[in-house]
Amino acid sequence: MTFYSTSRQSPDLGFGQAVIRGLAPDNGLYFPQEIPQLPTDFFKRMRGMSLPEIGVEALWPFVQADLKRADFEALVHEVLNFPIPLVEVEEDIYSLELFHGPTCAFKDVGARFMSRSLAAVSDREVTVLVATSGDTGSAVANGFYNVPGVEVVLLFPSGKISEIQERQLTTMGGNVTALEVDGVFDDCQHMVKQAFLDDALREKHGLTSANSINVARWLPQMTYYFWAVAQAPERPVTIAVPSGNFGNLSAGMLGAEMGLPVLQFIAATNANHVVPDFLSGEPYSPRPSVPTLSNAMDVGAPSNFVRMQHLYGESDFALASDLQGFWMDDEATLEVMKAVYDRTGYTLDPHGAIGYEALKMRPEGSVGIFLETAHPAKFGDVVERATGAAPELPERLAVVLDKTPESVRIGNQPEDLRAYLESR
Ligand SMILES: *Cc1c(COP(=O)(O)O)cnc(C)c1O
Repeated sequence: MTFYSTSRQSPDLGFGQAVIRGLAPDNGLYFPQEIPQLPTDFFKRMRGMSLPEIGVEALWPFVQADLKRADFEALVHEVLNFPIPLVEVEEDIYSLELFHGPTCAFKDVGARFMSRSLAAVSDREVTVLVATSGDTGSAVANGFYNVPGVEVVLLFPSGKISEIQERQLTTMGGNVTALEVDGVFDDCQHMVKQAFLDDALREKHGLTSANSINVARWLPQMTYYFWAVAQAPERPVTIAVPSGNFGNLSAGMLGAEMGLPVLQFIAATNANHVVPDFLSGEPYSPRPSVPTLSNAMDVGAPSNFVRMQHLYGESDFALASDLQGFWMDDEATLEVMKAVYDRTGYTLDPHGAIGYEALKMRPEGSVGIFLETAHPAKFGDVVERATGAAPELPERLAVVLDKTPESVRIGNQPEDLRAYLESR
């Protein structure tokens, strides 16, 4: 399988090279040259398969030219070594709990897959550079922690992430450095993108990206869409995805292009509703992000929008019948969290709550699945404000509170990042 750049101004690459490169030299995102079709019997067989077994079959066509089958099977089993339960919240509504990994967010799947893929395909020292709106950083830091030959540099927006998220980022130590940026997430993302576009800087430091733009972060996320459908009742399925950079949703849409039967996807956002606006017929207009309670989705210029365009053959997909948009502000998010908790006893985190509510729009008679993208305890203060009950902190989150945070404060310009990299 080769991957082309969505900007079409740089050479196609195989999986391994695309993983090392991250962002294409022309600023495009790598996208598979063709979309593999899985055999129809797979969609019957997958009901009896384990999560890693499904992952191996779904992802193999993308990596087979670069990895040995046995190595790849071992890799996927190591990555997907935690459960992803599909939990019934009420009749016909299911939560796909993606927060049972080491850092309690769905990004563990992509980050763990990428770290092992990079180690498998790279033969030089690399610096993984990642901008985080909260959960990416800890998932990446954890996924790469003390992987030999890899340094990790995380950029996070000062004061814009939850206390526990900040602790997770700043207490890793080892090969992980956290940069606290005087700015917002979009500044962090811009700084990282500019660093990659600087050939000399990129070469010198072996820079690579672990943001959702990297194919090895992006592709493995499709696995749990297959898994969710395999666990759900055998009826048409609607999947609502709380979204920020739209890596997660676009990976699920790619799975559907490979044959996974999904009746409808719903792109669910907070007040940063550029994509829902577009899906309701307005021109696509990225804008600065605004802070919300579901801060991991505070993205004003979603980097994976371009992949969604390419999924629809680069045509205007605003009117696509299998995708619709939904958004909800903070006040409504708190209300939904409270209502669901009072009625069912189920605790939603502020991101999952938006996915839950989005399912109200699903086609009649379809089974609704929303992705619960983070453990509610990661947003304990919001949960407590909404429901009156503080969620219990899982042990793997509680430990970070006892550690001493360490970070380097920098400005919000590409120059500031360059200066830091050169100073190491
Ligand atoms: C990153 C994140 C999202 C958004 O995912 P995208 O792939 O960027 O759309 C949603 N919820 C949580 C908890 C996240 O950490």
